[in-house]
Amino acid sequence: MKNDEGETFTMSEGNDRDTIRCSFCSRTAHEVTSMVAGSEAYICDQCIDDASGMVDISESQPVTVPTNVRTEVPTDTPDEVPASTPWQQRMSPMDIKAALDAYVVGQDQAKKALSVAVYNHYKRINASDDLSEFRDVELEKSNILLIGPTGTGKTLLARTLARVLDVPFSISDATALTEAGYVGEDVESILAHLLHAADFDVERAQRGIIYIDEVDKVARKAENASITRDVSGEGVQQALLKILEGTVASVPPKGGRKHPEQSLINIDTSNILFICGGAFDGLNDVIARRVSNNAIGFTADSTEKMDKFDPTIYQHVEPDDLLRFGLIPELVGRLPVVSALDHLSEEAMRGILREPKNALLKQYQKLFAMDGIELRFDDGAIEAIVTKAKTLNTGARGLRAVLEDTMLDIMFDIHSKSNIARCTITRDTVLHKSEPVFEPQRATA
Ligand code: ADP
Repeated sequence: MKNDEGETFTMSEGNDRDTIRCSFCSRTAHEVTSMVAGSEAYICDQCIDDASGMVDISESQPVTVPTNVRTEVPTDTPDEVPASTPWQQRMSPMDIKAALDAYVVGQDQAKKALSVAVYNHYKRINASDDLSEFRDVELEKSNILLIGPTGTGKTLLARTLARVLDVPFSISDATALTEAGYVGEDVESILAHLLHAADFDVERAQRGIIYIDEVDKVARKAENASITRDVSGEGVQQALLKILEGTVASVPPKGGRKHPEQSLINIDTSNILFICGGAFDGLNDVIARRVSNNAIGFTADSTEKMDKFDPTIYQHVEPDDLLRFGLIPELVGRLPVVSALDHLSEEAMRGILREPKNALLKQYQKLFAMDGIELRFDDGAIEAIVTKAKTLNTGARGLRAVLEDTMLDIMFDIHSKSNIARCTITRDTVLHKSEPVFEPQRATA
């Protein structure tokens, strides 16, 4: 059967295309290119695409479902997990961590904390009332705070989570926000970004993940600075509180500030997972001071003192330290899961260059392979890239900067050379821009 555009359309005879709806997304047959009929249900081509995308992520064999073929589900096989079960529900914290491992190097503590928090979050969303003895126990929302130096993978972790879970994801910057009435973006604009990412599907947006960067920059400037109203800091924290906790917010669909004659979309934020991130420079002082004070108070044992430059110091953070840093108590309360990311070691930096699925070196190698050239980085080159990147103090971001700088001239020149089979980047190429080692194609006999 063909539809109006002449596309193949598979449907039992006698059915009206206006009343046939996809059993998954409810679009009518008119709204889609093709619809496949099962024994008691229909699925449209778009849902087939979405479903096969999820199968790809789980790294099983890619499945292609021909849209013009009627799919029959054998009725004698019991279907343990109904097809409509959201796939987030079927992933354990270990599965989530394993998926994060494919993209993010190291940061094991943060990955574990995130995996468990996210698992509980989606369990809470999908909770049924089966456990009658716990009927009165309300599961609280587990929004997450990631603390760690710049370029250590906070945003990458949040982005990868959303990708793994196949939920809409958006990033907003806390420093762009102001409390209502001041110049700047309303807090609701954060939700507008998510709505965009969800292609204006409100249902999907309401189960998405929002990453709010630079929350440390809206901290009160000093512990007792609340006597005067602090526009950039406390006001924004107050505004964030509501959406973090769960509220129905009226969102201007195009973002920006609300104005009276604009139509607004209501978004319930109770099931949106918020991940806040920040470098929290100076928090190490606060932690070290607290630990030392405690030590003096109880044992006066100098071994209890903590070096503020200890690379693991952020792992010891407590809610009290965040208050002293300038977050308001209500906000700290709305971010019950706090996890610290480590400074990247040299080993981690080498790993970031080589290991993740879309590792930087693999990206350049792919570009060269498209021109039929094998690109290699010898061990000296890797060491030099890491050493140079560390001096930039921007974490793994420095790796890309060093590589871009190293590769620019080579990529510009290489087309003027003919017959190259292999290009090897050496330590000198990275440090002194010396020419890489080029090896020509072998003449075939
Ligand atoms: P931030 O902690 O400042 O949010 P990002 O997550 O934005 O840092 O990291 C910047 C870039 O550095 C990412 O795009 C990614 O390529 C790389 N990167 C940082 N940390 C890691 C990591 N642990 N594993 C893999 N790549 C990383």
